[in-house]
Amino acid sequence: MLVRRWCSVTLLINSQRCRRCGGHPRCADVCPGNLLVLPERGHIVSREPDDCWDCGACIKVCPQQALAVSLPPEAGGQGSTLRAKQIAGKIRWTLEHPDGRLETIDL
Ligand code: SF4
Ligand code: SF4
Repeated sequence: MLVRRWCSVTLLINSQRCRRCGGHPRCADVCPGNLLVLPERGHIVSREPDDCWDCGACIKVCPQQALAVSLPPEAGGQGSTLRAKQIAGKIRWTLEHPDGRLETIDL
């Protein structure tokens, strides 16, 4: 049976920001699909980007804000980008619109 997603959210990996978590990648530890892998050199990669469930777990735990999702128009994001940062026990979500406007919410 062919299962189609109602929309496609894309995981973005900023290779410049990834610091490899000292060789013990937090993002890989929390990925329910075991999709994220750390090569011997370089930054974290997804071995199967199409299998990403868009759960956001990896984004929340990354201490470098190296991970984000791109929200397509059908998800109400109009091409915007969603990032997360841990601040005093909370997660600050930042939505960056294509025109550069920023919206934040602390959860
Ligand atoms: S969004 Fe969820 S499923 Fe996708 S790579 Fe991150 S932790 Fe894994
Ligand atoms: S949690 Fe962030 S810094 Fe750590 S390995 Fe993953 S992407 Fe890189």
